[in-house]
Amino acid sequence: MTAARTLFEFDNAYARELPGLSVPWTAAPAPQPRLLVLNEELAAELGTDAARLREPAGVALLLGHGLPDGATPVAQAYAGHQFGSYVPRLGDGRALLLGEVIDTEGRRRDVHLKGSGRTPFARGGDGKAVVGPMLREYLIGEAMHGLGIPTTRGLAVVATGEEVLRERGPLPGAVLCRVAASHLRVGTFQFAAASGDRAVLRALTDHAVARHHPGASPLEFFRRVVHAQAELVARWMLVGFVHGVLNTDNTTISGETIDYGPCAFMDAYDPATVFSSIDHGRRYAYGNQPAIVQWNLARLAESILPLIDDDTDAAVAAATAVLGEFTDVHQAHLDEGMAAKLGLAAPDRELAADLLELLHAQRVDYTGFFRALAAGTARSLFAEPEPFDAWAARRAASLPADPVAVAASMDRVNPLYVPRNHRVEDALTAATGGDLAPFHELLDAVSRPYEQRPGLEAHTGPAPAGGAPHVTYCGT
Ligand code: AMP
Ligand code: MG
Repeated sequence: MTAARTLFEFDNAYARELPGLSVPWTAAPAPQPRLLVLNEELAAELGTDAARLREPAGVALLLGHGLPDGATPVAQAYAGHQFGSYVPRLGDGRALLLGEVIDTEGRRRDVHLKGSGRTPFARGGDGKAVVGPMLREYLIGEAMHGLGIPTTRGLAVVATGEEVLRERGPLPGAVLCRVAASHLRVGTFQFAAASGDRAVLRALTDHAVARHHPGASPLEFFRRVVHAQAELVARWMLVGFVHGVLNTDNTTISGETIDYGPCAFMDAYDPATVFSSIDHGRRYAYGNQPAIVQWNLARLAESILPLIDDDTDAAVAAATAVLGEFTDVHQAHLDEGMAAKLGLAAPDRELAADLLELLHAQRVDYTGFFRALAAGTARSLFAEPEPFDAWAARRAASLPADPVAVAASMDRVNPLYVPRNHRVEDALTAATGGDLAPFHELLDAVSRPYEQRPGLEAHTGPAPAGGAPHVTYCGT
């Protein structure tokens, strides 16, 4: 027990302050734990000892076993709109909040498990997770972190030694241990609002304000969440990221990206890009993400209306005005981000829009284009180069004078390595079969995405043409 106690000193403000929004629960046993990957950098940030996390007592802790005295793991309650339909009771069906740790910079961080067994929120699910999707969440989270985009991060993935039955047969079970600024979601507020108990909603809002925006009024709190999400989605758009399942329970209050399921980075630029096998209506396509997140934030506004103003009309008017700020804030981040990607001294919305149209029309690889532009080789990516030439001439007219400095500044914001879909699938298939080498190579590439290194050339481009379109599955 003492080993565990010194590895993490858990607080449990969420469980303590919001007893109506969670259920105390314990993690399921694991027959034969094996640590697959450990995030040493993140362990250090949390002020814990990576070497000791690799020992049996540490691995047990990463599965929620042998917790220090006083730890109170809970399954969190939340509701959510899934593909637009309201589900009043979702919650952690296969996850647990172990507790909160104050990191070396004084920040409160959640330590959370995914795949730790059925909870009272499991509905029909088995409470389990499998190696491929948990390594996938770990990998994409590290890629996002490497890109400088706010995200939850994997601390570890541990194989449980258990076989888990999935649609396509038995697969090796795993638990992801992840760290987040919090696991408060829009769906948490929907759940609290639907309880009809004003005190619960007030307590949740107080908790969220204290944690993320100390001192803010409910309306100001809402504004900060709107702005954080507007920026977050802009950052996704700039790197060609498609989340895949932007349900309200997957939209955070912290402004971190959460719950990597059927997500992917797009290859050829196309706003209609969807990867999820279950998103038939293309609701969560790349180009829809800003509008969808704004829609999710409207659900947050509805949930906290009674705290904004006792007069409902006044509350609606105030919240609507703040929600409307999303568009400008988002667009400003996009404009600035695009200017940086193109090496421009100042944003040029029309130039950026015309480029995206060109990339779309000729199905040019999105990530590859910007590095090629800096290197002076972008023309070769176009089957029909003349429209690109005309565009490039317009760009040249508004470039700063020093071309070497421009190219260097572009390479600092345009990733060379993103988790390419075919590479991710290959790495996860190998890992599921027991070979982690391709996973670690890919992880290494995407963890430092801007820095060209020898031996990683295979991670710089899309799959060879002619393969089947990439599809990701929700059966995780
Ligand atoms: P997600 O798609 O991971 O955002 O999960 C959506 C909801 O389904 C959450 O309430 C999860 O806890 C629940 N869920 C997903 N998979 C399982 C599973 N295998 N067992 C129990 N609950 C699950
Ligand atoms: Mg989720």
